[in-house]
Amino acid sequence: MILTITLNPSMDYIYHIDHFNLGKQNRFNTPTKMPGGKGINASRTIASLNTEVLAFIFLGGTNGKIIYKELQKEKFSNYHIKIEEESRNAITIMHDNETHTEIVEKGPLISEEKKIETFNSILEIISANHINIVSVNGSVNSENEFFYNELLEVLRTKINHEIIILMDVSKEKLKNIVNKSKYRPDFIKPNLFEFGELYDKEITEKSEVIEMLKLHNIDIPYVLVSCGGDGAVAKMKNKIYDVSIPSIQLVNPTGSGDATVGGVAYSFENHFSDEEILRQAMACGVANAMESGVGVVSQENVNAISKQITIKEVHSF
Ligand code: ATP
Repeated sequence: MILTITLNPSMDYIYHIDHFNLGKQNRFNTPTKMPGGKGINASRTIASLNTEVLAFIFLGGTNGKIIYKELQKEKFSNYHIKIEEESRNAITIMHDNETHTEIVEKGPLISEEKKIETFNSILEIISANHINIVSVNGSVNSENEFFYNELLEVLRTKINHEIIILMDVSKEKLKNIVNKSKYRPDFIKPNLFEFGELYDKEITEKSEVIEMLKLHNIDIPYVLVSCGGDGAVAKMKNKIYDVSIPSIQLVNPTGSGDATVGGVAYSFENHFSDEEILRQAMACGVANAMESGVGVVSQENVNAISKQITIKEVHSF
């Protein structure tokens, strides 16, 4: 079984409109609604691939109750910790030829007491279920600056068996993990923008990612920099690869990064080779972009796309 950790789940609403009028009234059809948050989306992908996954989440208030009710319809199980604050909403508007605008609320602050309860629950879940893949996905409140560093230390020092840790986090949280943490995750997945933020640089091209990866040789075994419709650049242990994807009929790319991480977790669970990991990860990201739902992939699309992924080695350390 795979464990995903989402401290900031949301109720997601996805709207479609031909043209979005900023500063004017916009009328929409009924949105696609589903529980979201990066780990929930990744869990949905993993469950679509018929693999057992448990989503650890925080839930609070009326929205928390709605998310809980909606989660009962999913193909994965969940474990939740109750919080005082209201769980958030996240709105995606698909408009004007493949543009998407997101409105995302800030997450709750985690108290010292809640943090200890969280760490203890996670340790219990991992031991009780013999989990060896843990995926930490998404944001925490900016005031909980070193929460993920502490979680990483707890996971690396308090579990008696080997676990693979995936971290899909961004901004200061990613900087703190990459630059300041003694304990290392096995995998990170910044997108182009987030990778640039890591070095306070605007990065827009794959070639720039390759140069930065060569220059910094981050001491995390797997670094996958996802580049939207351009595929990805990945450092897999001592090699850097340029990964290209086929063109598709785009429906909604929101959550493609989460589906990518879901694909990686699935690959580690199945002991895939580095090349197979890249194929599966990219196929899940692309398959998600072909669906309206977030984190939703069809096994058939994943199988077909994985054969169309091109992987080119561009550097060896
Ligand atoms: P999100 O935050 O919405 O989950 P992200 O910004 O983390 O996404 P992206 O880089 O946009 O992640 O996408 C991850 C992967 O999904 C890409 O590497 C690619 O394989 C696939 N993908 C994303 N956008 C598209 C697209 N427009 N067409 C085809 N595939 C896409």
